[in-house]
Amino acid sequence: MTDQTPTNTARSTLSSAKADTTIIHVEGVHKWYGGFHVLKDINLDVAHGERIVICGPSGSGKSTFIRCINRLEEHQQGRIVVDGAELTDDIRQIDNVRREVGMVFQHFNLFPHLTVLENCCLAPIWVRKIPRKEAEATAMEYLERVKIPDQAKKYPGQLSGGQQQRVAIARSLCMKPKIMLFDEPTSALDPEMIKEVLDVMVELAESGMTMLCVTHEMGFAKTVADRVIFMDGGEIIESAPPEQFFTNPQEERTQTFLKQIL
Ligand code: ADP
Ligand code: MG
Repeated sequence: MTDQTPTNTARSTLSSAKADTTIIHVEGVHKWYGGFHVLKDINLDVAHGERIVICGPSGSGKSTFIRCINRLEEHQQGRIVVDGAELTDDIRQIDNVRREVGMVFQHFNLFPHLTVLENCCLAPIWVRKIPRKEAEATAMEYLERVKIPDQAKKYPGQLSGGQQQRVAIARSLCMKPKIMLFDEPTSALDPEMIKEVLDVMVELAESGMTMLCVTHEMGFAKTVADRVIFMDGGEIIESAPPEQFFTNPQEERTQTFLKQIL
């Protein structure tokens, strides 16, 4: 586990630009895997442009929770409303939400048989029906933003892990999401590549993107997060701004966790 502080300081620049409207509303959410109660009464409101970091021990339900936000997992009780659309069985609402929400996973999930550029253009062309030329121009813009335009013609297997994860971020951004979910985006990377991905995430935060990041990169949390959430045993145990979360955690379980990772 590393604690690399990214180079930029996003938090100070953004708070003034933030609208205080709720874009994600989670209320009384429960979920079971068979008989296993994995999410227990989760409540969370996320404002436009807010950056939330979620941490907690392995198996505490972090991935399950953020996957519920774009319905990769379904909750059985409670409400999840994303940008005005409530997630129920209604497939149109699910599509509406997925259009607004990008997700980046631990293991990149790029298509190995497609070039970097093709990876970035696939969904815009086939889902958004954007003409290929325009999709390619947008993709190049985002590849420039994540600082790898020169890799556009290569295949994922020819890139380093850090570069692949930056492609995965660019690919998500090509769909122009309003919200980005990150599930341990740096956990599969060699230490020297972690920072190059965190720097891209910090820049994204500075641009005003609403972000929910499951990560144990506490340097990132301190620099960028508006709120840090600690989950354990399927519950949100504590939620606080980083200043308070790291210096004065209220709950014993949070204190124990922080002692282990810091
Ligand atoms: P985290 O991301 O915090 O490590 P997860 O959300 O992945 O936690 O998992 C929470 C718990 O749910 C774990 O005990 C895990 O084994 C269990 N779990 C996750 N996915 C499934 C599944 N598809 N079926 C059954 N149990 C699952
Ligand atoms: Mg997980």
